[in-house]
Amino acid sequence: MLIYDHDLSSLEELASAWNVPGYRATQIWEGLYQHLYASWEDFTALPAALRSRLAAEFEISPLVPVARLDSSDGQTHKTAFRLADELQIEVVAMRYTRRVTLCISSQAGCAMGCVFCATGQMGFKRHLTSGEIVAQVMYFARELKLEGLKPTNIVVMGMGEPFHNYTNTMAAIDRLNNAKGFSFGARRFTISTVGLPAMIRRFADEKRQVNLAISLHAADDATRSSMLPINKKYPIEEILDACRYYTSQTGRRLTFEWALIDNVNDSPEQARAVAVRLRGLLCHVNAIPLNPTTGYAGKATTRQRALLFKSELERAGIPCSVRLRRGIDIAAGCGQLAVDV
Ligand code: SAH
Ligand code: SF4
Repeated sequence: MLIYDHDLSSLEELASAWNVPGYRATQIWEGLYQHLYASWEDFTALPAALRSRLAAEFEISPLVPVARLDSSDGQTHKTAFRLADELQIEVVAMRYTRRVTLCISSQAGCAMGCVFCATGQMGFKRHLTSGEIVAQVMYFARELKLEGLKPTNIVVMGMGEPFHNYTNTMAAIDRLNNAKGFSFGARRFTISTVGLPAMIRRFADEKRQVNLAISLHAADDATRSSMLPINKKYPIEEILDACRYYTSQTGRRLTFEWALIDNVNDSPEQARAVAVRLRGLLCHVNAIPLNPTTGYAGKATTRQRALLFKSELERAGIPCSVRLRRGIDIAAGCGQLAVDV
């Protein structure tokens, strides 16, 4: 187990099992999440015997950076990390002057097999533990601290389907959100899901402040199934039912993601058709021209078609933004994360 797999209460249990006072658990917690210590030697408030026992049982940084790529504009950085079992994951840091968004992974690979996604093309390896998810954030928090910066937003949009690894993803978010520790605001997290209706409902019932984005990408089941195979199991209407439940339970606005692919889902007809389906739902659409991947022949839409798509949606009353593509030159854009293992 990693030290980051523990929350404060399980550290307290550990302290009691080891016969050390409970406040030691708080000191460990604060060392990890407030001081961002990277080594057990930094925990100078702890007795030496406890420090060496901790060092013998837990590693602090389970992630070994093995490659780092910086985009030509210097604003997007992709880091590949090796996990203890040799699998690799990738994390992307995007900088906008003093704002830093981290795009973190929830699984090694992904089981959903979306045809246009590099992670889908590599298949499923395994779920990440909550500690492995937390560790991605702490790695960058430490790095940014050297520049007097902090991550400002965290998007769970890297490798993997977070709602396929629901418990560990939520445990990681809760740990990072804990006010006595890293205290990262719930509203500054965004989870992106391929659209698993039962999990959307569960998420709605938990009434979290975390933002939710749904990868919709198509207005009809035939088109969506050809892009996202999971659509055969959970068709659009089932997802939208769950989305309506979500907005009614939480009052929160949803984001629908749409990777615009030339001649697949970028027509004004698709825009009009989806606008009809989304009418009355508290939402907006985030459209992004497709990022290229080796395993998929589809091409990005043109800027002109993207703007036409946006104006068709808006004319029908659905707010839409066309996002800039970032990090394409280092394959750090949405859906481009994959590592050869
Ligand atoms: N599994 C989750 C989160 C990771 S993917 C999900 O699918 O939502 C993050 C986003 O990138 C999703 O909206 C996904 O559909 C999109 N995406 C995948 N491949 C892409 C590509 N090649 N170009 C643009 N967006 C892509
Ligand atoms: Fe998995 Fe998301 Fe990629 Fe689909 S788009 S294969 S769900 S990571």
